[in-house]
Amino acid sequence: MPIVRVALDIPLSTLFDYTVAEGIAVAAGQRVIVPFGRRQMVGVVMECVAATEMAPERIKPVTQVLCDSAPLSAELFDLLRFCSDYYRYPIGQTVLSALPTRLRSDKPVISRVTLSYRLSASGAALDLDAPPRDGGAEPSGAGGAAERLLPQSAGYASNVSQPFPKRKVVQRRILAKLAEQPCNLAQLKSLSATVGAQLKALVAEGWAESFLETHSSEGSPFDTSGRTATSVQKHTFDNAHMLTGEQQQAVDTVTQTSSYACFLLHGITGSGKTEVYVHLMHHVLQRGGQVLLLVPEINLTPQLEHYFRSRFPDVNLISLHSGLSEGERLHNWQQAQAGVAQIVLGTRLAVFAELPRLALIIVDEEHDSSFKQQDGLRYSARDVAIFRANQRGVPIVLGSATPSLESYHNAQSGRYRMLRLTGRALAEARLPAVRCININQTVMHHGISENLLREIGLRIARREQSLLFINRRGYAPVLMCTGCGWLSGCKHCAGKMVLHLNDKRLRCHHCGYQLHVPHACPSCGNADLHPVGSGTQRVENVLQERFPEARILRVDRDSTRNKRAWQTMREQIHANEVDILVGTQMLAKGHDFPALTLVGVLNPDSALYSSDFRAAEKLFAQLAQVAGRAGRADKPGEVIIQTAFPDHPLFLALQTHDFEGWAASQLAERQMAGFPPFVYQAMLRAEGKQETGVYAFLNQARAAAVALQFAVEILGVVPAALPRRANHIRAQLLIQGAKRKDLQQFLRAWQPLLDALPAQKLRWSLDIDPLEF
Ligand code: ADP
Ligand code: ZN
Ligand code: ZN
Repeated sequence: MPIVRVALDIPLSTLFDYTVAEGIAVAAGQRVIVPFGRRQMVGVVMECVAATEMAPERIKPVTQVLCDSAPLSAELFDLLRFCSDYYRYPIGQTVLSALPTRLRSDKPVISRVTLSYRLSASGAALDLDAPPRDGGAEPSGAGGAAERLLPQSAGYASNVSQPFPKRKVVQRRILAKLAEQPCNLAQLKSLSATVGAQLKALVAEGWAESFLETHSSEGSPFDTSGRTATSVQKHTFDNAHMLTGEQQQAVDTVTQTSSYACFLLHGITGSGKTEVYVHLMHHVLQRGGQVLLLVPEINLTPQLEHYFRSRFPDVNLISLHSGLSEGERLHNWQQAQAGVAQIVLGTRLAVFAELPRLALIIVDEEHDSSFKQQDGLRYSARDVAIFRANQRGVPIVLGSATPSLESYHNAQSGRYRMLRLTGRALAEARLPAVRCININQTVMHHGISENLLREIGLRIARREQSLLFINRRGYAPVLMCTGCGWLSGCKHCAGKMVLHLNDKRLRCHHCGYQLHVPHACPSCGNADLHPVGSGTQRVENVLQERFPEARILRVDRDSTRNKRAWQTMREQIHANEVDILVGTQMLAKGHDFPALTLVGVLNPDSALYSSDFRAAEKLFAQLAQVAGRAGRADKPGEVIIQTAFPDHPLFLALQTHDFEGWAASQLAERQMAGFPPFVYQAMLRAEGKQETGVYAFLNQARAAAVALQFAVEILGVVPAALPRRANHIRAQLLIQGAKRKDLQQFLRAWQPLLDALPAQKLRWSLDIDPLEF
């Protein structure tokens, strides 16, 4: 009897063998339901083999082979096997976590059928350009029998070309489109908001007809080779701009590459990186390829989706991110898998989409730490994308105004190829002027300097927008007793509880624990409790007091919890219904606010001397991003940074817009200190209720690592940055290798030893290339 090796969502690094009853066809990549213990589970067949080492009587049969979805490809399996090995995560869990939720459930999926539309015979006989003949085709009254042209019964011979009412603009456009080629609803959407209803009318009147989309012309959904199906497709392309010389050069360099190469597109904010992406996509789409565009933020996808749709009105673009419903996500995933989706725009999880005709990958804002998953399969979508491009033999473009030092270093050493955009695309849009205000030499009002307030006042008078950037939500990061020095610590964590004045709560941002704000100090009874420091709410209050007339909008996780909130806010900002924006990093990323001319940065200093060696890199990227929001249109922008260290090299580099110089000095420091990208790291983390248990585990793990005697550096066991969270003690152990290969070999040898260690009542994980310390 044939045997299948099945990936299951089980934390063991093996596949599981099952038999398949005679006569049942099963292939690698198919989903199956199998018995596991007392449960039935969904798994994926990774291999079909003739024999197994298991005793025949112990092998159970597959319960059911699911044929409701096309099998996964060998190419995807290779990618997932690489991820499982590289990130030291069980193969079964790796495979299952890459699938949309619906494919992980044992309920059969009923995929939404995509209907396509084409002209009916009478529709094909229509003359869309001819003027209407007298009386007949253009009825005067609305409604009534004359309105309906009833093509079959109206007595026109089908070979007589019949005019179509000019008045029905949308219907005419749809017909014209269908005359070129059959389309589905998604492809017609760009024609009008009412396209659905109009199409229905056309079908009802017999001009158009629907049919079941068979993917034969686009490669069968079950054909995973995909590459053979290179039907060249025509699409409309809105070539909005003449490319600048630098843009053209970047586009040419990438399009001349037909095999794997990794490009770093380093372009200052507003230099037109998006325009380069658009042209690269156009090139690929013309040749029938699929493009994968990864973006860091789910918040950015609707905006980008809209933008790319407007540039490629009839191209099938889908998005993949966790904000979609399960049904939508499955549908989109299957469109990608069938090769029908031409552009796939997604957050990190989209890197695992099946893309049979993948020809280009773009990673926008490649430096963004959101590309790294922080639990389960702790992958970096950027790095997996690079592996994928290499595996597939296609180019990949990493874009950023402030590349990660890893990528920048690779581009300098020749591993990647550097593409530079050094000027802003719009000649009149200049980079903002950046200056620092020394907070120790000026009058401060609850964290905002007098000078900054004055500048905001000027902007309000000129009807321009200001943005205040502060990376803390809530009213104040801590509440303090002036009598005894008590601080509002969380009783479950090592962190402080944040004061939220709106609902009079103290709230722990680490574990979610909350309390009513006490009326008196819980320690000494003193009633004099003071908020220390500022968060977004406090800044909002200060501004409202100073500028009672101003329209102030706070944008942070608290104010955007509601799904549509952010969308509404963006519209308000664009309609210039806002004078001052107060926000966290949510506001820094990729948004284009034309009326914004002033950016104030309130308290960046803590990152300057942080114990996290990446803190300064992140701060520079964040400030360059947020500064890039100012003065993008015709008005010059200004950035004011409030700091106690106005001469810090980071701020000097920001003022001169000197990423190169800054990166060079940071890389030199990293090299001296032996930090990435000059070493490769893996972090073993453990947490549990008992401190002794956590440390015992890590110390044993360390001893085992030392005993292996590999060419890696094994650091000491230390408390995590937040040593206690939700009543769990947290500690960690860092391993470094000068070569990626050394570290990988070590990890392969070490992991089985870790698996064998007693680890009752604690959770541990390995994080390869960790970003958080
Ligand atoms: P980035 O993504 O690098 O920050 P964008 O792609 O958003 O920059 O471009 C900034 C602005 O410049 C946009 O308004 C865009 O439409 C415009 N733009 C881009 N390329 C050109 C060009 N070649 N000519 C004119 N305008 C351009
Ligand atoms: Zn007190
Ligand atoms: Zn807490």
